[in-house]
Amino acid sequence: MTEIGIRQCANSDTHPAPPGHPEAASKLAPLLAWLKTQPHPWLHFRPSQEHGEEPVARVHGDDYVQRLKRTLTTSGYFDADTYYSERSWDAVCTAVDAALSAVDDVESGTGPSVQFVVARPPGHHCEQHRPMGFCLVNTIAIATQYARDSYDRYRRVAILDFDVHHGNGTQQIFFPRDDVLFVSTHQYPYYPGTGSRVETGVGTGVGFTLNLPHPAHTPADLVLETFTVETGEALKLFAPDLIMVSVGFDGHVDDPLAQWLLTDDSFRRLGSVIRQWSEEYCGGRLVNLLEGGYSPDANRSAAAAYLEGLHNG
Ligand SMILES: [Zn+2]
Repeated sequence: MTEIGIRQCANSDTHPAPPGHPEAASKLAPLLAWLKTQPHPWLHFRPSQEHGEEPVARVHGDDYVQRLKRTLTTSGYFDADTYYSERSWDAVCTAVDAALSAVDDVESGTGPSVQFVVARPPGHHCEQHRPMGFCLVNTIAIATQYARDSYDRYRRVAILDFDVHHGNGTQQIFFPRDDVLFVSTHQYPYYPGTGSRVETGVGTGVGFTLNLPHPAHTPADLVLETFTVETGEALKLFAPDLIMVSVGFDGHVDDPLAQWLLTDDSFRRLGSVIRQWSEEYCGGRLVNLLEGGYSPDANRSAAAAYLEGLHNG
């Protein structure tokens, strides 16, 4: 049994979606309404602190940050999917602050060692110098780099990504690195096109990227079995000091954007095994950031199941 720290920022005012766009605050409405009922005494709502733009610049570079801030003074699109508005920079900062505050909580012990951040926009498709796939900055990469830079304890960080889309941006940012293990399971072939088994890293980073692709309609048990066995082996070799998770509920059978068959129970099992890995390898230190998930009802039921899995282990 473990306590879980929660932060939520739907950013409905600062990052409003164009009509009909799937990455909208409404996708989180049932989940946030459920959390508001304070469904479990082991969920603790935590405040966020401002961290400024420097942690963003450490991953994306100061030029990117300044260019992004200038662009986000109006509204438009970076590509066919990736919209922005004149206040989206505020939304980016709110989401990043929540993620970094979750890392601070884990390190300082002022909050639970397991954290879950429900924020938008998502981040895992954003490359070092390119916004894409609804993502303007790569929040989990920023939080990972922040943990590395701010706390001596975090020499080796593992990022696990079970969003149904490949976390191409996170992979690209850490591809040459041997201090960050990146594991992604995702529908493949599918958007964004990357994430095959042969993509394992470059230079000293070879062997520190692990892709576990499965085609559309793969049985949920096979997805879970592969993820459990291969990620478990990789974590044993890597021995992380901290585990970060790109959580996606768009692998749910009811999600409108993808064709995987995961159920609420699949997410409960994912929460359970990931919590067990965090206990086994890094003293229970575990930070979860929400990425995708486009069925409002499935987001609620899958998140409830995932949180129960994290709690019960
Ligand atoms: Zn996704």
